[in-house]
Amino acid sequence: MSIRVGPGDLAKYPFLNEAGEYLRQSGFGWDELEKPEMKEIIDTAASRIAAGTAGQVNDSLERYEKEILVFLVSLILVKSISIEPVLKKYSLSEARRAEKFLTEDLKKQTDPQKRALFAKIFEDLFSLKIDVAENGRLFKVKVTDYLRRSSHFHEQEWRMINRLVSRGFVFLDADEVVRLVRNELAILIHDRVAKMNIPQMPAAIRQKADELRAELAPKVQYRAQAVTEYPPCIKHALEVMGRAENLPHSARVMLATYLLAVGKPVDEVVEVFKNAPDFNEKITRYQVEHLAGTKGSRVKYSVPSCDKLRTENLCFATGDCAGIINPMQFGRKRA
Ligand code: SF4
Repeated sequence: MSIRVGPGDLAKYPFLNEAGEYLRQSGFGWDELEKPEMKEIIDTAASRIAAGTAGQVNDSLERYEKEILVFLVSLILVKSISIEPVLKKYSLSEARRAEKFLTEDLKKQTDPQKRALFAKIFEDLFSLKIDVAENGRLFKVKVTDYLRRSSHFHEQEWRMINRLVSRGFVFLDADEVVRLVRNELAILIHDRVAKMNIPQMPAAIRQKADELRAELAPKVQYRAQAVTEYPPCIKHALEVMGRAENLPHSARVMLATYLLAVGKPVDEVVEVFKNAPDFNEKITRYQVEHLAGTKGSRVKYSVPSCDKLRTENLCFATGDCAGIINPMQFGRKRA
């Protein structure tokens, strides 16, 4: 079956290759970006980037052509801002936006054309083959594909023992299928920007990029911590955060409990996580307060032991760690 990708689909999934083709066929050229009527597109793209950097997800859907252009201009702007944490946060917010549309569309699709389109999106972009299960409600993916992606999820529901499995397939609902590729979608958008080659930046975009850089840089700058006296595991986690990379959940717990245990106030601990690509201040604050024992169970969590951190691959021991059983002892022995 030939797959028809309409403008409505491209507005929701503008990262598909067909979006570029659509713009070419509509006669869109680089010079258009200099025209005064592009101001609205550039401004919308700039606000999406600012919102994405603040951890917000935009799920509005405007005119189809406008959506495609806003996405294109956003990519160019993020490229020219050239701040890695902004790129990471923006990529994640675009991935979350597409995730929302994909989930909604997967839930209501019964049309064979639509099914073919989704199969194409998953196969082309993520090399993941999904089929509709015989009951017509669930989707099935190969066990190997499932395991490759779910192995880094921490929630119990993703463990194979808690899944419906039959004849080499794992059965998932629409939310779960999309959740499975969330990280890959963010990486795809990130890599697309990273590989972009823009020979000559249109003046209007250059000016907007300068404004955005000045506005966003202070918000994502990592506050240099006095990390030299921290144990290597904590130093490593802080460095990962400083590079705006993703830290696994167990490493976040280690970092937060350690910082709280050495007397950092909740505000400061929350601040440490602000570089995380998926940072959401409200959720982070709740989690840190929970670990500090001021919310939820009201039990203050202890820093995990070195043994536990070793089993979670979070230990980066050096000679200075000799003889200690908890990161809290680091430095004390030497003293
Ligand atoms: S031995 Fe303990 S303190 Fe040292 S890096 Fe490993 S987990 Fe951290």
